[in-house]
Amino acid sequence: MEKKFHRETICIQGGYTPKSGEARVLPIYQSTTFKYDDSDQMGRLFDLEEEGYFYSRLANPTCDAVAKKICELEGGCGAMLTSSGQAANFYAMFNIVNAGDHIVSAAPIYGGTSNLFTVTMKKMGVDVTLVDPDAPEEELEKAFRPNTKAMFGETISNPALVVLDIEKFARLAHRHGVPLIVDNTFATPINCRPFEWGADIVTHSTTKYMDGHAVALGGCIVDSGNFDWEAHADRFPGLTTPDESYHGLVYTKAFGKGAYIQKLTAQIMRDLGSMQSPMNAFLLNLGLETLHLRVPRHCENAQKVAEFLQNNENVSWVSYPGLPGDRYYELAQKYMPDGTCGVVVFGLKGGREACVRFMDSLKLGAIVTHVADARTSVLHPASHTHRQLNDEQLVEAGVKPDLIRFSVGIENAGDIIADIQQAMEAAKA
Ligand SMILES: *Cc1c(COP(=O)(O)O)cnc(C)c1O
Repeated sequence: MEKKFHRETICIQGGYTPKSGEARVLPIYQSTTFKYDDSDQMGRLFDLEEEGYFYSRLANPTCDAVAKKICELEGGCGAMLTSSGQAANFYAMFNIVNAGDHIVSAAPIYGGTSNLFTVTMKKMGVDVTLVDPDAPEEELEKAFRPNTKAMFGETISNPALVVLDIEKFARLAHRHGVPLIVDNTFATPINCRPFEWGADIVTHSTTKYMDGHAVALGGCIVDSGNFDWEAHADRFPGLTTPDESYHGLVYTKAFGKGAYIQKLTAQIMRDLGSMQSPMNAFLLNLGLETLHLRVPRHCENAQKVAEFLQNNENVSWVSYPGLPGDRYYELAQKYMPDGTCGVVVFGLKGGREACVRFMDSLKLGAIVTHVADARTSVLHPASHTHRQLNDEQLVEAGVKPDLIRFSVGIENAGDIIADIQQAMEAAKA
């Protein structure tokens, strides 16, 4: 769709424009494979000389249309769906990082991503340095090494709600000749477009606000097309030297700005195969059609909940980047002036035990691993998502042991607050 449309319009109509007589709604191409009359044409598809579909592990029209919509929302030049957010972050890295390489990541990030970098990718021979994203630029400089290949952070970290200074991270990454990869799951492109601030690649767990209804696991990788791989050719040989598995094709030469996503599809997805199913992509698309309506409502409700908690005698601390006085309020005003996200984190007087009693007493809010969907949900990261981390790692990830992650839904704000109120009373008993 053309650039002139606003995000609301892209949410509804982006990615799929039917021709006369075709289905008005994006069809589910529930087919693993695609038929050709001519063997040579199939050969050309395999050689990446011609565009087209042949096998749904590599590309599928339903998935492509949804990837295109997310790409338009982010203002990117190419995108790919994956089966989960985990696959998106892994593939985004693995497309440019090999054994013997090093990455720099903000320490406060999603627990799964933290495990991916510090445990699983470490086993593959990739080293990671976790940094405090609030540290001064001179301090962060020290994390880079000659073999550093990428820098990573989350726009708003899950669950610590640390707002990333994207421009600072982009400056550092670019000074060291590496791309900045930003996980934009919590802010969504409705509230923040990291490419406008210098990020090169954006990832999403579409499982969260994009789907919004807790029905379909998924991920997405979007490339801005702005990083100049050729200018740092020796650092990124996978993109700038011949790929023997494609008869010596050089991605940057053959595809220019499309090099990163083409390699991701032709090589990483071909070999590892965590493709999103067309059915999930269809469900994700339904979610995307109301993203621009849901996200502001999540933020409005979260603001009310945060303000209520801030003035509550049972609460020991509350963190929400939309609250004036919050540690990240100014950064949030800069990077996401229309709102941040629907997640509020806080601690209760009485510590861990009080938190657990509070959660058990909620009636409307439900204890689920999930976050960022239409229904209010709650979780205690130290006992749930982050339970693999020891106390030191918890602190590094910005997760206090008494932190309650309260994902404010789009129900009536008064009902949500009344539920919190009654659960706090019950927790005292
Ligand atoms: C949930 C989440 C992920 C992982 O996504 P899955 O879809 O659960 O695999 C990655 N990053 C962030 C910020 C998340 O919230």
